Amino acid sequence: MNEDDTIGLEARLPDQEYYRPPPKFVGQANGTDPDIYERFEDFPDGFSEYAELLTWDERWDETFDGSDPPFFEWFVGGSLNASVNCVDRHLEERKNQAALIWEGEGGEARTITYQDLYRQVNEMAAVLREVGVEEDDVVTLHLPMVPALPITMLACARIGAVHSVVFAGFSANALADRLVDADSDVLVSIDGYYRRGEWLDHKAKADEAIDTEETAVETALLWSRHDDLHEGVELTGDDPYVLVDDVLAEKQGAHVEPVARDAEDPLFLMYTSGTTGKPKGCQHRTGGYLAYAAGTSKYVLDIKTTDTYWCAADIGWITGHSYIVYGPLALGTTSVMYEGTPDYPDRSRLWEIAERYDVDIFHTSPTAIRQFMKWGEEHLAGYDFDFRHLTTVGEPIQPEAWQWYYDHVGDEDAVIVDTWWQTETGGHLITNLPALEDMKPGSAGRPCPGIEPALYEDDGTEIEAASGRAGNLVIERPWPGMLQTVYGDDDRFIDEYWRRFSDTDSDDWRDWVYKTGDGAVHGQDGYYRVLGRLDDVMNVSGHRLGTMELESAVAEVEAIAEAAVVAREDRERGHVPDVYVVLRDGVEGSDDVRKQVIASVEDEIGAFARPDRVLFVSALPKTRSGKIMRRVLENISNKEDLGDTTTLRDPSVPDQIREQVQTNG
Ligand code: ATP
Ligand code: MG
Repeated sequence: MNEDDTIGLEARLPDQEYYRPPPKFVGQANGTDPDIYERFEDFPDGFSEYAELLTWDERWDETFDGSDPPFFEWFVGGSLNASVNCVDRHLEERKNQAALIWEGEGGEARTITYQDLYRQVNEMAAVLREVGVEEDDVVTLHLPMVPALPITMLACARIGAVHSVVFAGFSANALADRLVDADSDVLVSIDGYYRRGEWLDHKAKADEAIDTEETAVETALLWSRHDDLHEGVELTGDDPYVLVDDVLAEKQGAHVEPVARDAEDPLFLMYTSGTTGKPKGCQHRTGGYLAYAAGTSKYVLDIKTTDTYWCAADIGWITGHSYIVYGPLALGTTSVMYEGTPDYPDRSRLWEIAERYDVDIFHTSPTAIRQFMKWGEEHLAGYDFDFRHLTTVGEPIQPEAWQWYYDHVGDEDAVIVDTWWQTETGGHLITNLPALEDMKPGSAGRPCPGIEPALYEDDGTEIEAASGRAGNLVIERPWPGMLQTVYGDDDRFIDEYWRRFSDTDSDDWRDWVYKTGDGAVHGQDGYYRVLGRLDDVMNVSGHRLGTMELESAVAEVEAIAEAAVVAREDRERGHVPDVYVVLRDGVEGSDDVRKQVIASVEDEIGAFARPDRVLFVSALPKTRSGKIMRRVLENISNKEDLGDTTTLRDPSVPDQIREQVQTNG
């Protein structure tokens, strides 16, 4: 669908009820003072409250410089080092406290105290220096969920090198593209790791990326997974590889003086997951980003030093950067890191870990929640975990899935924050502060302190606040966590995010408006409900609907674990909805289920949106970060070419679906 054609996006879903945060949560929360919103309305100085959470080498002179929009600067004149903020400064008070608890897939566990982390980050920083990495070099990390990943990130930060982490599940091609785009000549990889008990040869991907003609890797540092089952690699020949262990052996006990980075110096690049188009290298600054990650970790995630916090995402995505590594460690908490998948060795794995470490705060995604629902709540039974706080991110969460999360994972006794944000935004932008607002399934809620969202019509006129009408979600005022630019491509930065709704001739920052690419409604209660990506909007009998609402209506049906709705072209009606459905385990597809799906859509949305076909499939096509790729389904429905499917997690899914559609459509 064409994103320029979003006119008349409608919100249809009936309103949900509210849930109060439990008093025992409110009593202990970091953010209980409603004045916080007012304090941050004092733009830009309100945001200095987040910067005050950090330790600065040189304090900033000016909170915000908007003189060259959209190239905004934050905490101008300040300098700091991110590794000092995440490690060194905690030593005095909590050097023996666990910074990271790492759980290997097969059950090995490693507790890394702040003192250990300090030592390992310094030693790795010395290794990077030894192989010639200098300040401002871009170092590409292609590492799975092992301690080497956060250690290497922090080691880069220590010497002022810019890390670019590529999710380990990405192929050699995707890695090569990112190496080339970032002009990066240093790669950090590992010999291998485990997935469902199987040893994956990860170096093979590095080999292939290095051999790709366009890449120019001069040094490839290779970690070793270190375990009893697997012998380390032997390197042969004159390839660019250096074994990290060999250099580390010479750097035992090294101290590397942290480099004071200007607040505006880049800390890292993060390529967007690539649900659409060529991946963009979002460049994040040191001061503003770290301040924003720390501030939102404190107020939205409610992290305290005494907590055991577990974000079950991968560090290879922005969520892991901001909310496994930088935010939690800047606040000096204990962060859990799990190497494996939720179903290995069995479907209770996560709950067993949560019980064992007595995890207080748990973070996951709607796609994972739908998976847990599909498996059934019996896999949680008998595990004694007790979460105070739950979060979700990544896609709109259907009220059904929210309710399941609340009932079965939260035991009707935890708060849930549904956090809306993007790789580009560095941290949460729309989500409730959990002690201050009631929860509402399916709604992200209120803007974070200091954030000014709005909804625009396609022609750029602003939709009245709290009108309940849908529109283009935009952000009207800068914030410290926002990306600085698209790496090496300022024009693309302007084109992608600003041109559509800004007066690009103006040098007044107030005339520049950030386009998110999502559609949303702003309810009378002041809550935002994200309807989905505007490129997923569908036009049914002249009504423009976001996928969120249709899919939420389908998810109401008990038998259904997960659904995706896409538009199929129809000569008479223009477009008709096709519903792809994954059933809960143990349920059979039947005409009765089909009827229930249709009835639910008619009830919740309206008869005009009646699905044409309800197709039972075993899996939906997803990106490597777990998001549904509706474009692929749309192509299947319309019998078109699949287009670019390189970001699919399981490339065999479209063919499976085609086959299943033929037999049951
Ligand atoms: P790409 O930009 O490369 O196509 P992507 O947008 O999926 O990929 P991310 O930055 O990881 O990459 O995801 C941000 C997007 O995810 C948001 O723009 C929104 O569409 C969706 N999203 C994230 N969190 C939420 C949420 N809580 N509710 C609704 N949608 C969400
Ligand atoms: Mg995006």
